Amino acid sequence: MRGPADVATVGVVGGGQLGRMLGLAGVAMGLRMRFLDPAGDAAPAGAVGRVIRGEFSDERMLLEFIRGCDAVTYEFENVPVAAARTAADRVRVAPTPDVLEVAQDRLLEKRYFQSLGIPTGVFEPVGSPEELRGAAERIGVPAVLKTRRLGYDGKGQFVLRSPGDAEAAWAAVGGLPSILEAFVAFDREVSVIAVRGEGGEMDFYPLAENVHRAGILRRSAAPARASEGVRRRAEDAARRVMEGFGYVGVLTIEFFEAGGVLLANEMAPRVHNSGHWTIDGARTSQFENHLRAVLGWPLGPCGLSGGPCEMVNLIGTRADAAMVRKVLALGGRWHWYGKEPRDGRKVGHVTLVGDDAAARAAQVEAIVGA
Ligand code: AMP
Repeated sequence: MRGPADVATVGVVGGGQLGRMLGLAGVAMGLRMRFLDPAGDAAPAGAVGRVIRGEFSDERMLLEFIRGCDAVTYEFENVPVAAARTAADRVRVAPTPDVLEVAQDRLLEKRYFQSLGIPTGVFEPVGSPEELRGAAERIGVPAVLKTRRLGYDGKGQFVLRSPGDAEAAWAAVGGLPSILEAFVAFDREVSVIAVRGEGGEMDFYPLAENVHRAGILRRSAAPARASEGVRRRAEDAARRVMEGFGYVGVLTIEFFEAGGVLLANEMAPRVHNSGHWTIDGARTSQFENHLRAVLGWPLGPCGLSGGPCEMVNLIGTRADAAMVRKVLALGGRWHWYGKEPRDGRKVGHVTLVGDDAAARAAQVEAIVGA
């Protein structure tokens, strides 16, 4: 399984752009990277390791995949929990499959935050259009209906403007078990990316401030314009979650900041889009630190390496060499995932580092049409 020059083999369930970036960090350290993805070698991670073609729910395939791995991790949270547990009986799996169960379900996730004393917005579970109408009357409008499971990038969501929207909203989310959330008139969105090692040591990247459009992350800035108190509360939330699970690896929690109050929205038990800036702008990237943690190795420092950072997502962008040249000429770092551009699809990102990063990010946005 392991070549003479390889120091360890890491299996990543999922071969999308996060897998690819984990792979880039792993290959640089001499790790042999292996991925499991239904797209096989055509997946973005195909550029950095072998991608075994297989469905995540296929337990036989998963067991085949983990054979010979020194550690196994995932690049997305919708890995079947039972399969992850079966894998964990045989090989080192991190983060723990227990966290998947919570992170896969918005209701369990919000209740988990509350159980740890981490504030969230107001929400109610809903299981029918009648319940939804009642919840909208109690919570007030606007309110956001979200399926409990499998939503991402704004998918599986509907904004209710009146309780009378209940039928339409219910149909829009496919009649699936959902939660209704009060619409938060936030001042900003921030995320904390934290890492915890095998021995319980923890570190936190500077908070990122995130701008979404239509539910999709467009731009992140680090450090966020946040008070010391906000930063401390965000880190404290991540600390509680990680200690609660005996967590190993990178964890992300996204928050709304409204009038100085920090409300947890959701968490991701993995590397995260709002941490892509760490590749170019932190002393150790989130990808390298995740791999270090998963392998039980010492963590690297999370601080900025060269001033403030901006990250601009490339969404549905059709790039050509002229575009790349213009971005590079602005001092941007160009990252491309090897995916066919489609509307709403993340196909790459650009990072800018330095005191004038925000101004240059705006110029990059004009060039890439973000
Ligand atoms: P989510 O899938 O929960 O991360 O939501 C995607 C994005 O939609 C968030 O980052 C916000 O920009 C927006 N959003 C989601 N829920 C709410 C809410 N309750 N209030 C206001 N904006 C929301």
